[in-house]
Amino acid sequence: ERIKREGSKKKSFGGGKKGGKRKNQIKRVVSQRKIKPNLVGFLANDDPAAKQYAEHTASSCKEIGLDFKLVQVDKDALKSNIIKANSDKNINGIMVYYPVFGNHIDYTLRNSVDHLKDIEGLAHNAVNSIYHDPSKKKILPCTPLAIIKILEYIGQYKNSLVHGDRLKGCTVTIINRSEIAGRPLAAILAKEGAIVYSVDKYNVQKFTKNDILDTDLEYTQVVPKSDIVITGVPDANYKLPSNLLKPGVIAINFSTYANFESDITSKASYFVPSVGKVTVAMLKRNLLKLYDYQNNLNY
Ligand code: NAD
Repeated sequence: ERIKREGSKKKSFGGGKKGGKRKNQIKRVVSQRKIKPNLVGFLANDDPAAKQYAEHTASSCKEIGLDFKLVQVDKDALKSNIIKANSDKNINGIMVYYPVFGNHIDYTLRNSVDHLKDIEGLAHNAVNSIYHDPSKKKILPCTPLAIIKILEYIGQYKNSLVHGDRLKGCTVTIINRSEIAGRPLAAILAKEGAIVYSVDKYNVQKFTKNDILDTDLEYTQVVPKSDIVITGVPDANYKLPSNLLKPGVIAINFSTYANFESDITSKASYFVPSVGKVTVAMLKRNLLKLYDYQNNLNY
């Protein structure tokens, strides 16, 4: 992933020195421990972005010695495939490329993944712990986790502080409230002390450490006061007007489409145009964690 810092050359996140170091660390752990955790990905939609994500996951896993098997299935056969994979001792992690049905059935699918194989941290129990009891969280959803790692890398998420204070004083706007990305991300950032405005097609919600409230605010009112703006709008025509952004904003886009205008780098102190590669790195991290949980090594 490329991180553009105002007035400097492009800095690399996933592929640069630090990203490479992280990849090598996972590779070293896998080879030193002589383990080969096994991940299965179920692709039941025809979204080209999901396919690309799956292909990148496959090559990235192979590179560091993890087994990844991509299984293309019919939507209606997905649940039975998940149930089969739940009881297959040779499978350590299960992931599903969402949206599948794009409605409540996806919620049921997320919950049919065994919690010890839920590499994406998207089943009800995992997500619920983010909202209610973060101390119990074991596996965080990969996209929110990738965004936290990016914020940590650029020094905005302060790992040296205690949990609860790591984003204290920060105002964040997230334009996306999906169950797999925007909503859990808003909750996690708010639990670290940020004030988070969560924008979707219909309204703006305010997330704080202990509350989630509907507001009468418009996105045009919350974006200008935000230190961090994160976009995930799945629409090629959507562009967030740069003139709304606070100078020096940290701008992160996780949508497949470019949600910021092309002059974003002249407004932002950091601009991250996509988070896919870091997300795959987090998938691998979660896979190793699950492997240890399954073998009672760290549970
Ligand atoms: P989704 O359709 O489930 O959710 C989209 C969200 O955006 C909804 O909350 C919707 O209300 C909101 N939205 C849509 N149009 C809007 C508008 N005009 N103004 C404000 N809000 C608007 O989609 P999703 O699964 O969250 O994925 C969103 C995008 O992010 C896709 O392009 C997807 O490929 C990408 N994605 C990337 C990663 C990654 O790289 N790690 C992970 C997940 C999703």
